[in-house]
Amino acid sequence: MSALRDTGEAAYHDGTGTFHPAAHRIESGHELRGERRERVDVCVVGSGAGGAVVAKELAEGGLRVAILEEGEWWDTDRFTARPAEMIPQLYRDAGQTATIGTPPIIMPLGQAVGGTTLVNSGTCFRTPGAVLARWRREDGLEDLTEAALEPCFRRVERALNVSQVPAELAGRNADVVRRATEALGWSGDFLYRSAKGCVGSGVCTFGCPAGAKQHAGITYVPRAWEAGAVTFTGVRAERVLVERGRARGVVARAAGGGTLHVAAEHVVVAAGTIHTPGLLARSGLGGGSGRLGRNLSVHPATAIRARFDEPIDMARGVPQSYYVDEFAGEGILLEGAAGPPDYLAAVLPGMGPEHSELMERYRFLGQFGVMVSDTSRGTVRTRAQRFGGAARRPEIRYSLNALDTTRFKRGLEALAEIYWAAGARELYLPLRGLPRLRDGDSGPLRRLHLRARDLELMAFHPLGTARAGADPSAAVVDPDLQVHGVRGVHVADGSAVPSALGVNPQITIMALATRLAFHLREESPPADEPAPAHLPRPPVAAAAVA
Ligand SMILES: Cc1cc2nc3c(=O)[nH]c(=O)nc-3n(C[C@H](O)[C@H](O)[C@H](O)COP(=O)(O)OP(=O)(O)OC[C@H]3O[C@@H](n4cnc5c(N)ncnc54)[C@H](O)[C@@H]3O)c2cc1C
Ligand code: SF4
Repeated sequence: MSALRDTGEAAYHDGTGTFHPAAHRIESGHELRGERRERVDVCVVGSGAGGAVVAKELAEGGLRVAILEEGEWWDTDRFTARPAEMIPQLYRDAGQTATIGTPPIIMPLGQAVGGTTLVNSGTCFRTPGAVLARWRREDGLEDLTEAALEPCFRRVERALNVSQVPAELAGRNADVVRRATEALGWSGDFLYRSAKGCVGSGVCTFGCPAGAKQHAGITYVPRAWEAGAVTFTGVRAERVLVERGRARGVVARAAGGGTLHVAAEHVVVAAGTIHTPGLLARSGLGGGSGRLGRNLSVHPATAIRARFDEPIDMARGVPQSYYVDEFAGEGILLEGAAGPPDYLAAVLPGMGPEHSELMERYRFLGQFGVMVSDTSRGTVRTRAQRFGGAARRPEIRYSLNALDTTRFKRGLEALAEIYWAAGARELYLPLRGLPRLRDGDSGPLRRLHLRARDLELMAFHPLGTARAGADPSAAVVDPDLQVHGVRGVHVADGSAVPSALGVNPQITIMALATRLAFHLREESPPADEPAPAHLPRPPVAAAAVA
């Protein structure tokens, strides 16, 4: 029998085999008053892409694991598919986390069991080979070869059922772009996603009501429970305890007002790129290189909305189902970005009658995204006092540099060309001063001197604020993701990823977390993981911009 794992559309459709643990091993921090003491082998802070994976692999390796998560557990049947109801509950700061800089950028972060994977689009790319090569060359991450990571990638892809979106679920929003991309002779394909039994209901980023999106909260976390791990929800890790250079545990504040003390010889910090630096800083850790909280890349994104004569019905189909990588060598990736009407109402330009008129044409509107592999870098403030105030919000500073601004202009021009070739009548641009293009004419966009401050941006992929690297004077964690100079404290989230990837990051974060877990188990990741039958093509020359 072939060891190949089917990753074609049959696997994407197949809804069978969802894992149900015997028990949900959850303790709610809302019930926790007074002092509570626990002792485990490993305390994992955060249950997102990094934390959930480490917790499951370590628990299955026989270690006693506690996961501390600030957000709550969500049963699939509580997802209403209504953005206005779900966003304030599933996203930190009701989805309004933002950067300070030019331009200000909205950077939504998930806050729940499953972390940001609960609200992500499910798109899966392996780390491009050229990015790994750069990390080996510039960051001393010599062991991070494609061959060495292969078992980790396979293990993650099998856990998430990574498979390709079938054409009939991709939706017309993708179909018009695919048609035009092929007519122009450009490179593009249907995306690979972490889904099983997807019905194309179009609300992945507001909680998948079909339980099809294979986020960490319904894949890795339940498997960690089955192996004995416990999750404390509604608890915020305040400090990592270290004595004589060795991890001793974590102190956390519970939503019910109590304090949770978890004694552990190993602590894995996976609070995400924006919150891990603060936790390390509050604990007096990771500051030696002066790099903690720096080196923030965000993979900034924007979108064009297009009006067609034909119905597009954006709310039907997988919202992020197709990509165009023709310009990946220039750091530009185009990805689908459809959304239901109440989401679109919030992002469409204009006000009053102008806005209503656009919304009346919702069925005829399409939307596609432009993402730039950024060379700009920002900071998350890590000075302990910055995190001690009542608001407890880290200060994120990031300004787009001239090179990345030019890349956005190039990406918008390319997407406009695709939309005109697809038969769009009118384009709505994310640009102050040039809100619309009409009649197939991109001239005004080409002639525009685009300034960073004129762009409307969002960012979904922050990375790099506790970067990995061999040199303790240039990196926060070492090649095995242990905080330089501190035994037993590791980082397993986006913050350890040293540079922008040019692709969506969840598979990279999960593969690195898998590698860390097996390192802590003092074992090699299993070499007998079934190989996928197909893989997403690496974006064309993503290398060039790594
Ligand atoms: C709308 C959206 C769509 C996206 N789509 C994709 C996609 O299609 N493909 C892709 O690859 N990536 C996508 N991403 C990004 C991807 O989901 C993230 O890069 C990834 O989840 C980050 O993993 P992480 O472990 O670093 O952090 P997270 O997954 O964010 O997990 C961190 C967790 O730590 C918790 N936490 C923070 N501080 C504390 C504390 N002090 N104590 C206890 N808990 C704490 C948080 O509540 C959170 O649950 C998307 C992101 C967004 C916002
Ligand atoms: S399209 Fe619908 S069913 Fe498919 S993963 Fe997204 S929310 Fe779930």
